[in-house]
Amino acid sequence: MTTSLQRTRAAGTVGIIGLGSRGIGVLERLVTLAARPDWAGRRLVIEVVDPDGTGVGIHAVDQPDHLLLNTVCAQVSLFPEEATVGTAVGDQGPNLYEWVTARGLKVAEDGYALGAEGRPVRPDDYLPRRVLGEYLDWFLRRLLDRVPENVEIRLHRAAATSLTDGPDDSRQITLDTGETLRVDTVFLTTGHTPPAAPDPEAPGASRRIHEIYPPAEAFADVTAGQTVALGGTGLSAMDVLASLTLGRGGRYEAIDDGLRYLPSGREPRILLFSRTGIPFRARPATNRTGGPYEPVVLTHQALDRLRSARDDRALDLHGDLLPLIRTEMRIAFHRRGAALARGTDAEHTLTARLRTAADEGSLDAELGALDVEHAERFGHFDPQELLFPDSAEFDSADAYRKWYEERLRSDLVEARLGLEGSPTKAGLEVLRDLRDVVRYAVDFGGLDENSHDEFYGSFTATLNRSVTGPQLDRHDELLALLDAGIVSVPFGPAPRVEWDQAAWRISSTRLGTAHSAPADWLAYATSGQPDVEATGSPLLADLVASGRIRRHRPGARSSRGVDITADQHPVTADGLPDRKVRVLGPLCEGATFYNHYVPSPGGRNRALADADRCATAVLAELAAVTEPETPRSPAQ
Ligand SMILES: Cc1cc2nc3c(=O)[nH]c(=O)nc-3n(C[C@H](O)[C@H](O)[C@H](O)COP(=O)(O)OP(=O)(O)OC[C@H]3O[C@@H](n4cnc5c(N)ncnc54)[C@H](O)[C@@H]3O)c2cc1C
Repeated sequence: MTTSLQRTRAAGTVGIIGLGSRGIGVLERLVTLAARPDWAGRRLVIEVVDPDGTGVGIHAVDQPDHLLLNTVCAQVSLFPEEATVGTAVGDQGPNLYEWVTARGLKVAEDGYALGAEGRPVRPDDYLPRRVLGEYLDWFLRRLLDRVPENVEIRLHRAAATSLTDGPDDSRQITLDTGETLRVDTVFLTTGHTPPAAPDPEAPGASRRIHEIYPPAEAFADVTAGQTVALGGTGLSAMDVLASLTLGRGGRYEAIDDGLRYLPSGREPRILLFSRTGIPFRARPATNRTGGPYEPVVLTHQALDRLRSARDDRALDLHGDLLPLIRTEMRIAFHRRGAALARGTDAEHTLTARLRTAADEGSLDAELGALDVEHAERFGHFDPQELLFPDSAEFDSADAYRKWYEERLRSDLVEARLGLEGSPTKAGLEVLRDLRDVVRYAVDFGGLDENSHDEFYGSFTATLNRSVTGPQLDRHDELLALLDAGIVSVPFGPAPRVEWDQAAWRISSTRLGTAHSAPADWLAYATSGQPDVEATGSPLLADLVASGRIRRHRPGARSSRGVDITADQHPVTADGLPDRKVRVLGPLCEGATFYNHYVPSPGGRNRALADADRCATAVLAELAAVTEPETPRSPAQ
């Protein structure tokens, strides 16, 4: 017998503002959960607002192939797994590696372009970012194809410009088309919003490139032979270098000990510098096989113990968190060392021994003995020195350059060994593997005020430099560009940057023999965490002005993201949560740690877990105020 639905009551309505991977994650959860029996018979309308609407977010499909992902392709998947969402897994499908392989895509001879010809894609390949955009677009279309009858998705290709209260405690979204949408509840997933527009009157403003993405367009006015001073040496800087070299027709050829750069003649000269002067570490060539890293000391329980010992329950970065991090790094180094020296069983035995030693208070002695045992074969591993190297003194620009190149080279040796082959990289990887435990320590005001400021002010940069550095090919290329004289690093740490009437001037501050050079252009290569108080997003500016959101820890210097509660509700200017709004993704950086990533398979994933938690709560709230529609027979 067929039945049709008699609509007895208005549907619940949810708004999603911003449809990148975070918005898609929320949409997937709402669609999957609303198809389950506990929501059966109720209608749900989802108003999705995004200027593009294809789901690609920041990962535009029309960008060149030399702009690479910094996540290997087997570690990207939008499909939630049981470890993250329990039994409500919904649709299951390929991760990015499986998806490109199923399409017969290959890696071209240049080592990065993806197309019909070349070698097979490997799980550890860093693919062009545009391919992630294509995967996101595909995922969205597949999701839209399985929307159940009780759910209606309305896509508005527009930008939201404000959010206000509507009747009956609803929320009203205003679009830049002039349209308004009334919704019961809203998700704010606007990702990487632009910074505030620069002051056009500031000295040198016409020669400052403020927004480096997309790099080909951003640097289009920079002509061959001009000089660009580029601040920052991380992933975004590598994007800029790739755009100004490969993107301008340059090529690399393999030589005995690396790469040689073959210029096109269209490149500018690039003066690279950074605050610390320390280069990033490259990502390892291969990742670990097997399950997630199981910590010995850096655990939730250890953090709970520390917190309960503190009256105000806020942890101290140096006193509480860093000792655990350093010890776990040493443990990971020695576990890998044991596996390489004596096999996997030896690693298991060692891990069990270290757990017992941790319980019995003899861990320091055990690790001391292992330091001696492994020193000859794997070198001395000192987490403190790796994380916070002594500020080196350099006699001259030349001495600094030699030191810089040597650091790149020695790190590349470890990176080539991969996570399985390098105990050093395995020790560092703790910082990435145990990000969720670090979040448990720092999120929602978990650190005291000073520690919080240091964590977001400089320690996150330390973490990024240690484990979220460029693909190792990029550092091979950087060495070749240094060799070719296209890039130079003459200033040492913390150079001074000034506008000198007609050009920028960059001057060393820590070299024995000072070095100074002019530059036609200045750019800082950062991907830009949203700064709610200095934003170029009309929506965010409106939300701050109307007091609907505020900066996390307004007193702290380094927190720039939105203040949220543990349920993802924004805290308003008067300190109360807006329970009709939920914020997910990069906007929350500061209240929560490390929000700028695409979901990975194989274990609990925080981004999708947050989406699931919020979607479940929203549907429960709506179920309480919307009645199920009554099934009715055709004869009625
Ligand atoms: C250059 C770059 C490279 C990156 N590479 C990687 C990587 O390799 N691996 C990785 O894990 N992470 C990477 N990231 C981190 C990034 O945070 C995530 O990959 C991911 O894009 C975050 O998803 P999102 O949905 O939060 O944000 P986004 O992808 O930024 O999507 C947000 C969406 O919201 C829309 N929007 C914004 N404002 C409004 C408004 N007012 N109204 C309506 N819509 C709006 C935007 O147009 C966009 O479509 C990268 C980030 C950058 C900047």
